[in-house]
Amino acid sequence: MKNIAILGATGSIGSSTLEVVRNNPDKLRVRAITGGKKWQQLAKQALEFKPDLAVIADKSAYDLLKTALAGTSIKVEAGADAVIAAVEAEPLDAVVAAIVGAAGLLPVMAAIEKGRQICLANKETLVVGGSLVMQAIKKADVDLLPVDSEHSAIFQCLQGSPEKSLNKIIITASGGPFRTFSREQLLAVTPEQALKHPNWDMGGKITIDSATLMNKGLEIIEAHWLFNTDYDNIEVVVHPQSIIHSLVEFSDGSVIAQLGWPDMRLPIQYALSWPQRWSPPVPALDLVRVGSMTFEAPDLNRFACLAYAIEAGRAGGIMPCVLNAANEVAVAAFLKRKIGFTEIPALIRRTMDSFTNQPAKTIGQLLEVDTQAREKAAAMLTNGVN
Ligand code: NAD
Ligand code: MG
Repeated sequence: MKNIAILGATGSIGSSTLEVVRNNPDKLRVRAITGGKKWQQLAKQALEFKPDLAVIADKSAYDLLKTALAGTSIKVEAGADAVIAAVEAEPLDAVVAAIVGAAGLLPVMAAIEKGRQICLANKETLVVGGSLVMQAIKKADVDLLPVDSEHSAIFQCLQGSPEKSLNKIIITASGGPFRTFSREQLLAVTPEQALKHPNWDMGGKITIDSATLMNKGLEIIEAHWLFNTDYDNIEVVVHPQSIIHSLVEFSDGSVIAQLGWPDMRLPIQYALSWPQRWSPPVPALDLVRVGSMTFEAPDLNRFACLAYAIEAGRAGGIMPCVLNAANEVAVAAFLKRKIGFTEIPALIRRTMDSFTNQPAKTIGQLLEVDTQAREKAAAMLTNGVN
């Protein structure tokens, strides 16, 4: 029996993780769950899975959650510090990190320091703090298991292969809902259109990131850290059917891919079952139903976010943190209709240009840069992005 905590239980990955738990009651036991604001959903989850601890980040929801769980033995806490402390609950073997954005960094660092296995969905943690997070992982000697479908695919392809035999990583991208849009069409897209992903059902922020291709950029940086691979050896190929989740090329030229329906339950379950494999959480892949698979190159001009992420990743230091913060501000502004779709990359470009790069030395420094970048991006929003 594996004791787990789920950070971001009320989100898309969090809910899918609970489905995996529901299907494997003899293998997984939920000890702690955390949510951002949705206390009703968190209460419902707590009543079903009976963790020892339920934490809501939004302090104003504490009383409501406490009342909803009155009469149970579930401990209720609130606030950002309580979310971090949730990884300290005992007994705990693994932490599923499914908070969205840079807000996930500190809880993941705390979980690493506590020696928990990390099942990582929260890619922004590696984008913002890559070198420091990987150092901490090494020092604490904990397993870092990718949940992101592409990275789960790469991780699976690499199982059993000798070290140093990896030549190249090929990350697939669906291309998002605007893959075939012209520049003019991109100018007019609405949040409603951007929130409709052709293949995946996900939280709002990552769905917009998938439409701008920033998601693929963040994933390149994530892959760089997870698999200790140079940016020169990470390639993106657009594969609109999202059946091949990624591929690796070995030193002898052989290429191995992982395939499956686009459904996060499989990569989530593999992160929890590794190195074992459990019963399938989704129907079997049917290649005849898939019919055909196609591939094309990404367009870095129409989707400049991907180019900026690669640039920030290669630059290293604080730049990926700046990129990520500006992107979080830009995506939130787009969803609130304060800026247009094509102003997302524009705001990121201007924010990146307003920083001089420096080495990333401490998490504290990165959190400061994160705050500064958000402030600068917000000020540019007020004064006009272009
Ligand atoms: P989501 O928006 O559906 O859920 C996010 C969760 O984080 C919610 O529980 C929310 O309450 C919580 N949260 C948000 N801000 C918080 C804060 N400041 N403090 C504490 N909790 C907070 O997002 P999601 O789609 O589930 O994605 C979660 C993470 O997983 C993201 O980093 C995303 O990039 C990554 N991911 C998601 C998918 C997917 O299919 N949804 C796939 C791969 C990777
Ligand atoms: Mg992904």
